[in-house]
Amino acid sequence: MRRTKEVTVRVSRRIEELPPYPFAEIDRRIEELKKRGVEIINFGIGDPDIPTPPHIVDELRLQAARPENHRYPSYQGMRRFREAVASWFQKRFGVELDPDREVLALIGSKEGIAHFPLACLNPGEAALVPDPGYPVYRSSVILSGGRPLDLPLLEENGFLPDLDSVEAAAWDKAGMLFLNYPNNPTAAVADLSFFEKAVFFARRHQVILAHDNAYSEITYDGYRAPSLLEVPGAREVGLEFHSLSKTYNMTGWRLGFAVGGAEAIAALGKVKTNVDSGVFNAIQLAGVAALEGPQECVEDTREKYRRRRDELVGALRSLGWKVDPPRATLYVWMRVPDGHSSESFTRELLERAGVVVVPGPAYGPRGEGFVRFSLTLPDEELREGVRRIREAFA
Ligand SMILES: *Cc1c(COP(=O)(O)O)cnc(C)c1O
Repeated sequence: MRRTKEVTVRVSRRIEELPPYPFAEIDRRIEELKKRGVEIINFGIGDPDIPTPPHIVDELRLQAARPENHRYPSYQGMRRFREAVASWFQKRFGVELDPDREVLALIGSKEGIAHFPLACLNPGEAALVPDPGYPVYRSSVILSGGRPLDLPLLEENGFLPDLDSVEAAAWDKAGMLFLNYPNNPTAAVADLSFFEKAVFFARRHQVILAHDNAYSEITYDGYRAPSLLEVPGAREVGLEFHSLSKTYNMTGWRLGFAVGGAEAIAALGKVKTNVDSGVFNAIQLAGVAALEGPQECVEDTREKYRRRRDELVGALRSLGWKVDPPRATLYVWMRVPDGHSSESFTRELLERAGVVVVPGPAYGPRGEGFVRFSLTLPDEELREGVRRIREAFA
């Protein structure tokens, strides 16, 4: 038998430039502990454990049975869905949107975010991406041939970027700026005056603002998150991403939307026309039921997470660790105790308490010195995790 010569598949430079999977080492340790019979409590995953409200599931069942929903959907989303988005947006933020030109259905907001640099950034152009930040901003810039430039989010600035301190040279190179408030992973929030400033800078330096508002509805203690589009003139410089994933516990359904200026929406729509064929109509119609139906389910969700937040933050504080209760998102972002790095503290939590958290640098180098706890695990598991942490570190 003749042995075939080994061939290496040539992958693109863009693929090689993507940051390595940040959880590989943690995953390996989790597997090791599991093999030894340790039951792991996982505060690492940001994926709601709460089921999708039944009226939304019922609507999917109904719509999935209708043959007229079985064909290719329209690229920009059903008119019915875009209308529901526009009226939800008007009710929620007081902002009027043209459902034909200023709304686009997405296969989850991640899809839209990942494709946006292809639509509005040129190869070689830079994009300012928050550090720490949701990893998709950075990787989508790399995949589109652009260059990510770190925009530091520092604790002393409430994890808002200091736009005044971005150098002129960086603004010159940049064609895009990503923002995300309420923020993952830091749980920071931004008020309208911050967005006004961001729009001012975006205009002055001619960069496109891409705001990820996936957590607009996951807020606590009476706090209501604004939309970028509440700022006059914002839609001329930017676009905002929304998701049904966190609001209605629909992460697996893959439904989100982009809203903003007609040109940016059309450009993103053009990318999508060439890449995908839209969202299953039955899912869009279930999304309509979510947006137009009773909203008590959202209040219930907020209340569940608030209770978990208070339980976790109370326990962490009782150990003398410095942490503020977040006003939004599904996360608690905590500075690690003195003498620890993110990595060493993550390891200690895992080995002494069987508890998994995400080390801050998984979201960028400025995440060093922090860890992220997620609140998306069932109450009993969260309580058990809290009990173990108290016991191990008391
Ligand atoms: C969860 C999350 C999303 C939502 O993603 P979908 O694709 O809509 O499920 C977007 N941005 C951030 C920062 C998130 O954490």
